[in-house]
Amino acid sequence: MQKNSMIIIGAGFAGLSAGIYAQMNGYSTQIFELHTLPGGLCTAWKRKGYTVDGCIHWLVGSSPESAMNQFWREVGLAQGREFINLDEFLRYEGSDGRTVVFYSDVDRLEKHLLDLSPKDEPVIREFISGIRMGIRFDQQPTERDSGITKLIKGIKMGWLFLTRGKDMRRWMDTTAEQFANRFQDPLLREAFKEIWYPEFSIFFIMFTFSYLHNHNAGYPIGGSMPLSRALEKRYLELGGQIHYGKKVEKVLVENDRAVGIELADGSQHRAGRVVSAADGHATIFKMLDGKYADEKIKEPYEKWPIFPPLVYVGLGVNNRFENEPKTVSGISFALKQPVEIADQTLERLSVHVYNQDPTLAPDGKTSLTVMIPSSYAYWKEMAKDPVEYEEKKEQIARQVVAMLEQRFPGIGSQVEMVDVATPLTFERYTGNWQGSFEGWLITPQNAGSIMSPMKQTLPGLSNFYLCGQWVEPGGGLPTGVMSARRLLKAVCKEDGRKFITTQA
Ligand SMILES: Cc1cc2nc3c(=O)[nH]c(=O)nc-3n(C[C@H](O)[C@H](O)[C@H](O)COP(=O)(O)OP(=O)(O)OC[C@H]3O[C@@H](n4cnc5c(N)ncnc54)[C@H](O)[C@@H]3O)c2cc1C
Repeated sequence: MQKNSMIIIGAGFAGLSAGIYAQMNGYSTQIFELHTLPGGLCTAWKRKGYTVDGCIHWLVGSSPESAMNQFWREVGLAQGREFINLDEFLRYEGSDGRTVVFYSDVDRLEKHLLDLSPKDEPVIREFISGIRMGIRFDQQPTERDSGITKLIKGIKMGWLFLTRGKDMRRWMDTTAEQFANRFQDPLLREAFKEIWYPEFSIFFIMFTFSYLHNHNAGYPIGGSMPLSRALEKRYLELGGQIHYGKKVEKVLVENDRAVGIELADGSQHRAGRVVSAADGHATIFKMLDGKYADEKIKEPYEKWPIFPPLVYVGLGVNNRFENEPKTVSGISFALKQPVEIADQTLERLSVHVYNQDPTLAPDGKTSLTVMIPSSYAYWKEMAKDPVEYEEKKEQIARQVVAMLEQRFPGIGSQVEMVDVATPLTFERYTGNWQGSFEGWLITPQNAGSIMSPMKQTLPGLSNFYLCGQWVEPGGGLPTGVMSARRLLKAVCKEDGRKFITTQA
């Protein structure tokens, strides 16, 4: 079998990017994808004329000035795309009538937080100083910079590490919840815990605001599916082949060398190398029967928290929501009384109104989404009775509309479509473990992976590689591309080739 050939499992962002960089570097690749569409979790679906967007809120690297933007041009995503930068990340409405607005602009955010709670000045200033530090980090040298600019930027980065390294480590080791608990104001305490997830390392939340301030975390008009189609197009133009509707069951191994794959239809396909850009748990423990998992490989699957599985509700509403703010992440509002949704008791609801993107809905109407964390085990049990499963989804649809009525009076009569996905839907269409939507949460346990990345090989198995969100804590689209790029650099090095990239 030609060493030059490569089989890639999964046509998500990581798999498509691996294929793109491999084709650029002279490898002959084929991707096997279980779904009939490219993109994996970066997806969207149509219902009654509305698009339910299943992924993108913000894309790091949207600014042409940023280092990451070069990668987006390499994989063909950035060209011709319109990004918009929104003034607000999140609007957090308290039960006491006050609202915390997490502005994208750091000065505006600082002033607003200080106005809300002057007595919390020391904690606010610390949060803001983390964002300001990240703003400087986001100006890293790029491969396009001239020698002198690269040198100056490199020195600035080194200085920043030297002078602020300790702060960074401390913030990496602090969860959002621990940081939030330092606020005296109960609303700020609550809001900071829920900017993202309470277990999330506060360092990465600060950095998200740095990207937002730098206009480097924009929203792409058109949403997720056009992004995935752009990568698919680039891969096919570089000569790659994708086989859709093909589920990989086994990685074929001979003498501790990966030699190919076996599909659910029983057919076998061979190549010099196998890359899995599919779910990490299924790859390691099912496709390879756990034979190449030592304690270190098992540790994350036993100990690290994952992005919680979701009940994901899409709504189509006959309203423009012109007077509502345009936010990156949504509006979170307090409910009049707690509501039981599946296995959770909700005291507030977070809704994303896509009033920034009219392309997702018919004229004059708007697409909305609601994300509710829910346990995989609950839904697995529920699905044993398909009738009960469907009834539960219908009940949730009614409950969500009723909750939205509290914040948007009259919405009940404007709703034209409600679509409910569960953790099992995520599992069915993307194969992700427990239906997780972004892999590992980035917590103090694994924040160090930003300095020393997780391994992309398995001990004792040659010619086999991993990439994607299960080897990149924090997940997200940028890490998918970055892990594929890193992998292909390593493969080129193994073969004594110079790693090259091109742009579409
Ligand atoms: C609601 C939501 C919001 C998000 N918001 C953002 C955001 O704003 N910004 C951002 O950057 N990221 C966001 N993400 C995260 C981002 O979508 C993911 O982290 C990223 O898409 C993961 O890419 P991946 O290629 O590593 O994995 P996946 O997308 O899971 O791709 C894996 C692929 O492998 C295929 N596969 C699995 N098993 C098999 C098998 N046995 N045989 C063949 N194929 C298989 C799957 O079908 C899939 O196509 C969001 C995700 C969700 C769900």
